[in-house]
Amino acid sequence: MNDVVAYMSEAAKAARIINGLPDKIALRPIKKVGIIGAGTMGGGIAMNFATASIPVTIVEAREDALTRGLNVVRNNYQRSADRGRFAQDEVDERMARIEGALEIEKLVDCDLVIEAVFEDMDLKKRIFSELDKICKADAILATNTSALNIDEIAAVTSRPQDVIGLHFFSPANVMKLLEIVRADRTADDVVATSMALAVAIGKVATLVGVCPGFVGNRILAARQSEAQKLLSEGVLPWEVDDAFNAFGFKMGPFQMSDLAGLDIGWKKGAKTGNAIRDQLCELNRRGQKTGAGYYDYDDNRQRSPSKVTEGIIADVTGIEAGSLGVLQEDILARLLHPMINEALVILEENKAQRASDIDVIWSFGYGWPGNTGGPMFYGDLIGAEKILATMRALAAGDDSIKPAQTLVKLAEHGGKFIEVDLGGLKTG
Ligand code: NAD
Repeated sequence: MNDVVAYMSEAAKAARIINGLPDKIALRPIKKVGIIGAGTMGGGIAMNFATASIPVTIVEAREDALTRGLNVVRNNYQRSADRGRFAQDEVDERMARIEGALEIEKLVDCDLVIEAVFEDMDLKKRIFSELDKICKADAILATNTSALNIDEIAAVTSRPQDVIGLHFFSPANVMKLLEIVRADRTADDVVATSMALAVAIGKVATLVGVCPGFVGNRILAARQSEAQKLLSEGVLPWEVDDAFNAFGFKMGPFQMSDLAGLDIGWKKGAKTGNAIRDQLCELNRRGQKTGAGYYDYDDNRQRSPSKVTEGIIADVTGIEAGSLGVLQEDILARLLHPMINEALVILEENKAQRASDIDVIWSFGYGWPGNTGGPMFYGDLIGAEKILATMRALAAGDDSIKPAQTLVKLAEHGGKFIEVDLGGLKTG
C-alpha cells in the first residue's frame, strides 16, 4: 500500500510537467474568465474560478436557463456554508464574482473563455466563430467538449493557436481531474497557462491529445463496451457492479450508466444494436432521473436489482437470469484488461505524455481504487501475460479487439507498464 501511495503522489506531481516547453515561457495573465452555457458543467466550472477569487461572466442562450444555472450555483455554495465549510458571508462574496449575461459580447474583456454548451459540433463551431470576432487578442478560447475534435473547432477561428480543450469532469466544482487537451496548433504558452491555472484552482491536471473521448473517456468506452457484451451473454448488471464494488470502485459500470442516464445518444423508437438498453429506455427506465434504469430505485435513490431488467435480459439472450454464476475475478479480467490494453494504444498513438498520467486520470477522474493505483500500476500487479491472454481470447470473438503491440512486447520481453515510454504527446 505504501508503494502505491508514494507512486500516486509522484504521478500527480509529474502530470504537471509539460515536456518540450521552452525553458522560460511567459504565461498569459488570467484575470477574468467567461463561460458559455450555465448547464451542468458551466455552473460547476464557474464555481472553480469564483472560489479562487477570479471574476466570471456566464453567458446563456435563455433567461430561464441562466436563472436556473445561477440558482444551482448559489444552492451549492449555500449547502457548503450550511455544512460549515466556509462562513455565510462567503456565499454572497463568491456569488458577487459571477455575473450572468445573455449576450456573448459581454465576453470581450475576458482573458479565458470556456465554452460549455450542448455537445453539438455545429453549435460549437458557431460559437467559436463568434468568439473569434469578439474576443480580445491573446484570449484563450477553450472548449469543455467530452469527445468532439478540437482541431475541427479551432479551424473555424483565425487563431487556432489560442484554442485548447479544458475537459472538466462532473460535478466540475467537486471533481479534481482536468484533462487539458492540446490541439494540433495550440501554442506553448496557452498550454503552460492552462496548466498553471489548473493548479491555481486546485485541480489535478494532465495534458492529453485530441482523439475520440481523449484519454479518460476513451478507456471508459473500452470498459463499457465489454460490460454491455457481458449483459448480452446473460450476465446481470448487479453481478458486474458487485465485482467492481468488491474491487473497490464506488460505482460499477451499470450504477454509472444509471447515474449518467441510459438515453445519452438514444431516441424514442431507436434500434441501436444494444437491444437491452433500447428496451429499458422504451419503458422509460432511463436511469436514476426517471426512478428506474438497470436497477429499481426507491424514493431515497437506493437501488435494488430489478425483475424487469432481468426479464429483458432473459428475453434478449434466451438465458435464464442469474444461471451463469460467472466468477467476480473473470468479470474483472474481462472489463479491466481491455482498459489496460486501450491505455497502451493511447500511449502508442502519443495521446498522453506518460504512463503514470493514465493512472492520475483514472484515480482523480473515475475513482479507481487507491490500493491498485490505476490501470498501469494495476497492470504491473497482475502481469502482462495474463492481460495478453485475456485480450487474445476476446480478440478471437471480436474483430474490433486487438492486443496492443506494447502489451505483446511486455509479455514477451518483460518491463513495467508504469515505465512504458513511447515518446509522449505529439501533435500535428
Ligand atoms: P447541459 O445541457 O447541462 O448545459 C448546456 C447549456 O448550454 C444549457 O443550459 C443551454 O441552454 C446552453 N446553451 C446552448 N446553446 C447556447 C448558446 N448558443 N449560448 C449560450 N448557452 C447555450 O450540458 P452539460 O452537461 O453542461 O455539457 C456541456 C458540455 O460539457 C458538453 O460539450 C458536454 O459534452 C461536456 N461535458 C459534460 C459532462 C457531463 O457529465 N455532463 C462532463 C464533461 C464534459
